[in-house]
Amino acid sequence: MSKKEIKPSKAAFDALYESDGLSRRDALKLLGIGGAATMMGAPIGLYAEEPKASSDKEAQIVIVGGGSGGIMAAARLKRAASNAKITLIAPNEIHLYQPGQVFMAAGLLEESDIQKPNSDFIPSGVTWIKDEVTVFDPDNNKVTTSKNGDINYDFLVVATGIQYDYKAIEGMSEELVGQKGISSVYLSNFIEGTAKGGTATWQWFQDVRAAAQKANPKNPIKVIFTQPDTPIKCGGAPQKILYLNDDYLRGNGPGGGEDVHMNAKFTFCKKGKGLFSLPSYNKTLLEEVTPMYGNIDDKWDHILRKIDPDKKIATFEHAYEIQGVFDKDIGEYNMIQKTEMVDMPYDFIHVVPPMKPVDAVANSLLGWQKGTAKGWLECDQYTLQHKRYKNVFGIGDILGIPIGKTGGSARHHGPVLVENLIATMEGKALTAKFDGYTVCPLKTQYGKIVLAEFNYDGEAPSFPLDASRPRWIWWAFDLYMLKPMYWYLMLRGLM
Ligand SMILES: Cc1cc2nc3c(=O)[nH]c(=O)nc-3n(C[C@H](O)[C@H](O)[C@H](O)COP(=O)(O)OP(=O)(O)OC[C@H]3O[C@@H](n4cnc5c(N)ncnc54)[C@H](O)[C@@H]3O)c2cc1C
Repeated sequence: MSKKEIKPSKAAFDALYESDGLSRRDALKLLGIGGAATMMGAPIGLYAEEPKASSDKEAQIVIVGGGSGGIMAAARLKRAASNAKITLIAPNEIHLYQPGQVFMAAGLLEESDIQKPNSDFIPSGVTWIKDEVTVFDPDNNKVTTSKNGDINYDFLVVATGIQYDYKAIEGMSEELVGQKGISSVYLSNFIEGTAKGGTATWQWFQDVRAAAQKANPKNPIKVIFTQPDTPIKCGGAPQKILYLNDDYLRGNGPGGGEDVHMNAKFTFCKKGKGLFSLPSYNKTLLEEVTPMYGNIDDKWDHILRKIDPDKKIATFEHAYEIQGVFDKDIGEYNMIQKTEMVDMPYDFIHVVPPMKPVDAVANSLLGWQKGTAKGWLECDQYTLQHKRYKNVFGIGDILGIPIGKTGGSARHHGPVLVENLIATMEGKALTAKFDGYTVCPLKTQYGKIVLAEFNYDGEAPSFPLDASRPRWIWWAFDLYMLKPMYWYLMLRGLM
């Protein structure tokens, strides 16, 4: 535990559980049953899941990517395919627990709290090639690496995750994070195993607070938070930073202090006209969380396209509609789509980068060749098998499927991918299906989380509690329990 981490007393825990409408006993029962596991998407009670399918056939299985999905796949495949030769191609010596970057930004964890050597998690018997794949050649069942030449496979698991594209915003770059009032919690370097985004954003929180202390409600500082119009991993993180920063100005979080949040005007710019795709969570965020702060202005359909770090001006593309002529046949007005560029001056800005599939996949035959998912791995949204190359499967953020770029989703992809890959090895029909499960522990303030769980069919709460309520218990699970469960159970394929 980091020295800055807040550890409430037993009495404080009791009071907070009760504020969630739970007795301490019920809270501990939830915790024991698997509340923390749920935040990374583990079904209740599954702590030592046995493989549902196994094969003793000989085969070369290559996994590309050593993040959450790749490591989980290696652990599960090692148990399920006893005679397969499994090779993991992963450049990173250090494994980052990425959800911890948000707690770093909030001053509750440090970088060393979310780093561990990747070697701790690679199962014995799995060959680790510390390298990057530069070319995927599925027609010839091989990949090309940057230092170790070509590697052939019988089965391929693609687990390369996502790529940040800061440069898609004119004037923006990774180097600007931590300078000139700019931060971005996402920024990390997978090769070096560093999480600059977390460190820089905690400094940024303190800088915003220091500036707010010198301002006043009539002349507030301007703080902008952005969310791009591309798919992003952990879709809740842009809002987590918005609310935690606002709450930090209210004097909550490490260090406490006077409430200065009305000395700051917060603007949140995003695509769409709501804060969450599912109505109950959206209602809580719009009608409860946002008014609770009273200084947040949501700007719908505003996407950051350009930034001038010296003048501190952010330029947004604003999409809107105007009413056209009345169509008598259908009894409606035609709506005309318009866009305009809007300049917004700021003192501080939190930039969430546009995100895209890693180049090696996007430039290969494995990516969707056209359409809105172009470049993302073209796989079936239920079986996770490649649509055209039946010996190729995917796991994690790289999947070109409708929802679920979270560690929780990757946790659910793991057993499906392994069962279906084994079935393919055995020449059997694929029966395991991914239901679209994803999870977003949305931090609405220090000490409260709305635990949004959903799948392809809509809301999918694991607990008999109103999922739209911000609750202390989910915060406690997320901050205190999830990280060890990630390291010791999830990555080892044990839940
Ligand atoms: C700030 C933040 C907060 C988050 N919060 C949550 C949360 O609360 N809950 C949750 O469930 N999820 C959360 N996530 C998301 C979660 O971390 C990711 O969804 C998860 O890590 C995806 O796993 P992955 O294996 O697909 O990708 P990653 O874990 O990112 O791993 C991909 C790996 O592939 C490697 N790679 C890339 N290209 C190549 C190549 N060509 N050759 C070889 N290797 C390659 C990379 O180096 C990397 O190590 C958060 C993420 C961030 C950044």
